Amino acid sequence: MARYNESLCRLCRGEGSKLFLKGDRCYTEKCAFERRNYAPGEHGQLRRKKSDYGIQLREKQRLKRIFGLVENTFRRYFEEAERRKGVTGTHLLLLLEQRLDNMVYRLGFANSRNEARQLVLHNHFTVNGRKVNIPSYLVRVGDAIQVKEKSRSMTRIIEAMETVARRGVPQWLELDKTNFLGKVKVLPTREELTMPIQEQLVVEFYSK
Ligand code: SF4
Repeated sequence: MARYNESLCRLCRGEGSKLFLKGDRCYTEKCAFERRNYAPGEHGQLRRKKSDYGIQLREKQRLKRIFGLVENTFRRYFEEAERRKGVTGTHLLLLLEQRLDNMVYRLGFANSRNEARQLVLHNHFTVNGRKVNIPSYLVRVGDAIQVKEKSRSMTRIIEAMETVARRGVPQWLELDKTNFLGKVKVLPTREELTMPIQEQLVVEFYSK
């Protein structure tokens, strides 16, 4: 899967907000955005007035970058959200949340979505007892995500599970640390998705 190669912290600084792309570091004082919360580059500290289009574009880019997706993939999620009954913006966020790599990250088996994607690709998880190595696999209510037995001694996974307390596991998920097992109790409401995104702006961007 194609991914961003730019420095992750530069993406946060460019978007003007923390996107939490580097795992536990993002929650510490080492976070580059905490130290320099202006865009990188020579003119990064200049304030420019943005057009409506510019504001919508930036919001779309922010959401896309939080989940580490390229444009075509992200656009497909939007089109699927549009086909569903109800509020398109909320469906878009829910579809993104349901990705297996996101769930692995949310449950604390990985330190970032990027790391979660790699772990899924490398076959370290099962869903409902079956091997799944597709990061975009859509997890449903009641599904059980588990670290494979042979992968439970991996330092990356153990360290991630130790540090997850800093960001917390969402209430709509259930984590059984002893068995390296996570379950989706319910899908979150919009209010429970605390990421600082105005999804309506993304909808407006694509609806032009
Ligand atoms: Fe963004 Fe995390 Fe880097 Fe901070 S540490 S700038 S939140 S990627």
